[in-house]
Amino acid sequence: DPATVLRNDVRTAAAPPPAFHRGRVALLGDAVHPMTPNLGQGGCQAIEDAVVLAQLAAPDADLAAALAEFTRQRLPRTMDVVRRAERIGRLTTWRSRPACALRAVLMAATARLTPDLALRALDGIADWRPEGPTYAAGTRGTRTAAQPKEHE
Ligand SMILES: Cc1cc2nc3c(=O)[nH]c(=O)nc-3n(C[C@H](O)[C@H](O)[C@H](O)COP(=O)(O)OP(=O)(O)OC[C@H]3O[C@@H](n4cnc5c(N)ncnc54)[C@H](O)[C@@H]3O)c2cc1C
Repeated sequence: DPATVLRNDVRTAAAPPPAFHRGRVALLGDAVHPMTPNLGQGGCQAIEDAVVLAQLAAPDADLAAALAEFTRQRLPRTMDVVRRAERIGRLTTWRSRPACALRAVLMAATARLTPDLALRALDGIADWRPEGPTYAAGTRGTRTAAQPKEHE
């Protein structure tokens, strides 16, 4: 039933902000890097933000330095993901019949010839590790991101 179809606009960060923080306030997640859902990364990037923020803004940290470092680590990475999602999203907005037919053929051929191509869109994204020990690792002692547990 068309009346039950939910239609929401999708928004994406038009341009990178100068920083993800000002003074003692930092933004994370969709509030600062909204992206199209085409890579399934909006929530993932918000979680990465939270991991880094928890790591840097420790109770004894210099907050100004911590938030500046948060911007340094997170702004370029998330904006890269925003642009990559946007590029893929553009393909989904094609409307003309010939363009849609071409897209369908390309998708089918790609899936058959190079099945892992779709996953390559996540190169450099899905293998992310925090730069230092995570908050959780710190509280547990010695485990760091560079030394994941065997089952991870
Ligand atoms: C169709 C679609 C598919 C997606 N698929 C994926 C996926 O597969 N993987 C993925 O990682 N991400 C996906 N995402 C993106 C993901 O949903 C978002 O990036 C993520 O939810 C952002 O989290 P957030 O906490 O930053 O913001 P939100 O989830 O928007 O949370 C903000 C919260 O703040 C509340 N709020 C707002 N104003 C106020 C106020 N004044 N006072 C108190 N509370 C307030 C809101 O009600 C909301 O609960 C998808 C998004 C869409 C639209």
